[in-house]
Amino acid sequence: MRSESLAFLKALANVPSPSGYERGAARLYREYTEPFSDRVSTDVHGNVTAVLNPDAPMKIMLTAHMDEIGFIVHHIGDDGLLYISGIGGHDSVIPVGQRVWVHGKEQVPGVVGSKAIHLLDEEELKKKPKLTDLWVDVGAVSREQIEAVIQLGDVITYQYEFQTLMGDRATARGFDNKAGLFVVAEALRSLSQEGGLHAGVGVYAVASVQEEIGSRGARTAAFGIAPQTGLAVDVGHAIDYPGVSKARHGQLDIGKGPSVSRGPNTNPVVFELLSEAAKAEGVPFQVSVFPSATPTDANAMQLNRGGMAVGLLGVAIRYMHTPCEVLSLTDLQQCARLMAAYCRRVTAETDFTPF
Ligand SMILES: [Zn+2]
Repeated sequence: MRSESLAFLKALANVPSPSGYERGAARLYREYTEPFSDRVSTDVHGNVTAVLNPDAPMKIMLTAHMDEIGFIVHHIGDDGLLYISGIGGHDSVIPVGQRVWVHGKEQVPGVVGSKAIHLLDEEELKKKPKLTDLWVDVGAVSREQIEAVIQLGDVITYQYEFQTLMGDRATARGFDNKAGLFVVAEALRSLSQEGGLHAGVGVYAVASVQEEIGSRGARTAAFGIAPQTGLAVDVGHAIDYPGVSKARHGQLDIGKGPSVSRGPNTNPVVFELLSEAAKAEGVPFQVSVFPSATPTDANAMQLNRGGMAVGLLGVAIRYMHTPCEVLSLTDLQQCARLMAAYCRRVTAETDFTPF
């Protein structure tokens, strides 16, 4: 991978961006895409859109969400502890025993506290803790001490940063969906620097907000842009580790290329164009099947205005919504190649109607 691209991916993975608090990720995305876009704008909801050929009649929207799961401070106790709610979907066993950053006036280190095993009664020992049984301890002894630097509504993320592993694998907190955001930026860069877009085709590369709490950013961005077609890219569960069944969940392996979704949430013409593009470019891909609406920005996009022809690309990831998500860097590059190849196949006359 190009060193500037890797540096961008690292910075994205490390910047905190819980839903509603995406400004750090938005700034990185704007700075990275500005040199190769015709226009970059931020809307009132916080979505950032980098555009190529803004006057073209055929508009393709590429989307990845830049928010990540996290926590928010909803109460500061007189005991000096922070009481928290989850932003997005958390498995409550994950936060126990973790170090965190509280993003207050300054970045404050803390730990997630819970009752020690020796103090749990028999019933408690059998159960998972709930998020409401946990708190964040920053070492303060009073509310006043905390309020000098932290206020209600400040957000919290795990102290985990980007790290390469063996081979082409890497781990980070929030690869869901900084990985997808990286793919969108790299696809746009390829279209700008290597060309290949047909005349009359414009590309709107959207870093969307608030996907983890219901695809709220993609919904308003799609309405504002009014594209005819679009691709969302998000992470998908790798079904390649012990205890997960291919018979139940379908197969998805890390390192075997991006996934292309098939099912009612995706347009059949888009699926065909994606398959053809992948074969022509030599991009290996895996088919992911969703029998109904997907829990991604592709759902909000498909239901935009009078309907939109949507495709969904996936990057296989292990341990989703934990601070140590694992993926393949090669998959990211292949996914960006496929996304760009799709855009090059669309013309101003492409008809996405499923006749
Ligand atoms: Zn997620």
